[in-house]
Amino acid sequence: MTRIDESIESIIAGVIRRNRGETEFHQAVCEVAETLGPVLQKHPQYAEHKIIERICEPERQVIFRVPWQDDRGEVQINRGFRVGFNSALGPYKGGLRFHPSVYLGIIKFLGFEQVFKNAITGLPIGGAKGGADFDPKGKSDSEIMRFCQSFMTELYRHIGEFTDVPAGDIGVGAREIGYLFGQYKRITNRYESGVLTGKSPHWGGALVRREATGYGAVYFVEEMLKVRGQGLEGKRCLVSGSGNVAIYAIEKLHALGARVVACSDSDNVVVHPQGIRLETLKRIKEVERRRLADYVVEHPDAERLPAGTLWKIPCDVALPCATQNELDEDSARTLVANGCVAVGEGANMPTTPGGVRVFMEAGVAFGPGKAANAGGVATSALEMQQNASRDTWSFEHTERRLHEIVRNIHRDCYETAAEFGSPGNYVIGANISGFRRVAEAMLAFGVI
Ligand code: NDP
Repeated sequence: MTRIDESIESIIAGVIRRNRGETEFHQAVCEVAETLGPVLQKHPQYAEHKIIERICEPERQVIFRVPWQDDRGEVQINRGFRVGFNSALGPYKGGLRFHPSVYLGIIKFLGFEQVFKNAITGLPIGGAKGGADFDPKGKSDSEIMRFCQSFMTELYRHIGEFTDVPAGDIGVGAREIGYLFGQYKRITNRYESGVLTGKSPHWGGALVRREATGYGAVYFVEEMLKVRGQGLEGKRCLVSGSGNVAIYAIEKLHALGARVVACSDSDNVVVHPQGIRLETLKRIKEVERRRLADYVVEHPDAERLPAGTLWKIPCDVALPCATQNELDEDSARTLVANGCVAVGEGANMPTTPGGVRVFMEAGVAFGPGKAANAGGVATSALEMQQNASRDTWSFEHTERRLHEIVRNIHRDCYETAAEFGSPGNYVIGANISGFRRVAEAMLAFGVI
């Protein structure tokens, strides 16, 4: 072990000691820190100024009570979070997640990832994440509204277009962003469009933001395949999840001539060998807010399988677009054995470290979430640009910008990996490229 490796090991041990029980955060830190040896070798000033140690400590963390009343008049209490992880490159930026599994460790892992992801976009945005352990499933519209209003009644004092700009994530879509923005506007007496992104295009949202994460993940996979002289045309694909990212990944895959044969939610996998019918999926999930299982009622030629079986279905390309650690080592082995050639992470950290190792060893083109799903936050930054200039761009123009940004991200990760002696390794490329940008800004600002 070199001296640099030892120092990285000791930094990781320190993070684990200082953040007990936050396993997802430990995992995210290890995944990045373990790839930074070569960059410390090349830029010893980063170690001298303790850049890694500083990056691993969030700049600020807010935890707050969110009381609200359900439809029966009963008082409910949830816990809200906002972690401003790093603002070296711009205001804190990152989504809000409403899911019962949310606790500080999940928000910190997501915020940490967001720092590097946002840096890789090349846009002036820092990294953050927030959310609550609130379960939106089965809640009425009024309950969602009351919850969002209570959540914002505390959050508003910590955010602002130049301070911290939240967006959506699991359980937070345009409806929730609408309620959150309405309450922010009411409390602050300001129509501050740029304080939230993922707004409806009817009142300040950017066209393509809804589609951006899914489309971007597919563009990233397309670029990885191009390097190998391949394309998406005719490829059989699996997409996990059936939420925002999954739906628009499926839409773009179909538009580019691929066929998505299965998707999922936390209860079921739906297999439709002719290709998932997007109109049905969108109506069930986005309009009627029903469960994925209802899809097979409308398409009797589709089959419903139990949760956890998705990755056993043979495919050429896999896009995990649901949640963290949903694709483990065994699933990765099955995918490789079935001939999968490319994996693009639409979700954040969906592949376990063991799974990533399997893909790397098998030579699968693997696009880590930091790079592959960065199209979403990049389009949020485009939404901020439009809000700041009080302008509205067309769908075509915005999608062209998104496509160009994703191509640049791919090229940057590819070239950085080659520069540091690991050609084709997008994990190393993404981590080092993002880290260098943040590190340079932090060095310039001195010890703060
Ligand atoms: P949605 O809430 O729209 O959809 C989430 C989907 O994933 C649902 O189908 C949900 O199923 C499934 N899912 C969620 N949690 C679990 C779980 N524990 N086990 C199995 N399935 C689960 O969220 P998004 O599509 O917005 O987000 C999906 C992923 O993409 C997340 O990792 C998010 O962090 C990431 N991401 C999202 C971005 C965005 O712009 N929205 C940007 C970048 C990354 P069910 O309904 O049964 O819960």
